[in-house]
Amino acid sequence: PPAIRKISEKHDKVFVTGCLEPDTSKPRANAAFVVLARNKELDGVIQSMKSIERHFNRWYNYPYVFLNDGDFNQTFMDTVKNYTKANVEFGKVGPDMWGYPDWVNPKVAKEGINKQGDNAIMYGGMESYHFMCRFYSGFFYKHELLAKYEWYWRLEPEISYFCDITYDPFLAMIEHNKTYGFTIAVKELRETVPNIFRYASAYKRLNNLTSQGLWEMFVEPQPDKKPEPPAPQLPDEILRSKQPEIDPEGMEGEKYNMCHFWSNFEIARLDFFRSKEYEDFFQMMDRSGGFWMERWGDAPIHSLAAGALLAPRDIHYFRDFGYRHTTIQHCPANAPARQLPRQPWLEETTTDERKRVEEDKYWEDWDTPKENGVGCRCR
Ligand code: GDP
Ligand code: MN
Repeated sequence: PPAIRKISEKHDKVFVTGCLEPDTSKPRANAAFVVLARNKELDGVIQSMKSIERHFNRWYNYPYVFLNDGDFNQTFMDTVKNYTKANVEFGKVGPDMWGYPDWVNPKVAKEGINKQGDNAIMYGGMESYHFMCRFYSGFFYKHELLAKYEWYWRLEPEISYFCDITYDPFLAMIEHNKTYGFTIAVKELRETVPNIFRYASAYKRLNNLTSQGLWEMFVEPQPDKKPEPPAPQLPDEILRSKQPEIDPEGMEGEKYNMCHFWSNFEIARLDFFRSKEYEDFFQMMDRSGGFWMERWGDAPIHSLAAGALLAPRDIHYFRDFGYRHTTIQHCPANAPARQLPRQPWLEETTTDERKRVEEDKYWEDWDTPKENGVGCRCR
């Protein structure tokens, strides 16, 4: 891999700084919120809608597309519509986009999933979670309700936004020629993706793709260390047809550092996913069986595709968005505090205080370019 680059001068800037009146003067982008959910998640969905409406969409009125592998019930649909004045559509995800494809042996896949459950791999034993990850990896952008849109903003149940977003992030991304936007980058649980990098790396090599500078964000530096021998290729028994041959030497000594953009928040161009390059990538990953025999998430899939196909300049870090999902959050207001030197008075403080300070280590520096080119350290 190339030496660490000096890319700070090229590093992308926050789109808007300071306190603004919401600017709604320009026409909207061709975009929608995309929410995959189940009826039982209604409360969580309402929480998320309240939050995004209050902090953004009451001014911008972007439509929502709700998707479900089952049927939304009337209560779900009626309730959701009460929380926005924007247009709302509900769609069903058919068996062509959900569940086992016909080229997979469901018995072997199910055994693989059960084994992951026995090994206490997070969500590994949950069949529906595998379906969801594969749907978000290779299908959501092909859903008929999204066909008319060029951009999407992914929304999940039980998330919250805690800063007002007073500009249109879609328009800002268009203006700055961005493809993919994120707000948190984290490390994946290694046991969920033991073979993912082997295939992503093979995709890159087989298609003669040279890094445009983003790939390195996902590569563990291994100074003077002999590369580990790659894990065995995933078994063929799961497949009704043979999987693509990949060269076991193809890792070129690279190892995945587990970093990925956390995809429960995403603002991106749909034509990135609809491109032939992304489709080829998804096909190769899919045909390996890794969505079944391992528990590949859509987050590392999207991230490694971006790493193979995009450059740092195509990526936008929404460091100005206050965002929380479960236990991980990104809080812009906390970031500048990290730049203060270590403070002796903290030695005297309570454990709780200490914990808070420990957590503070995780806040990215405000607007400080990082060498990975996207301005954000991977937690
Ligand atoms: P986590 O964020 O990784 O803990 O996973 P979630 O349980 O939040 O699932 C991610 C997204 O997929 C959320 O929007 C869920 O509502 C949705 N989701 C997960 N599993 C299913 C499923 O079986 N059916 C449907 N319709 N949505 C699902
Ligand atoms: Mn979630």
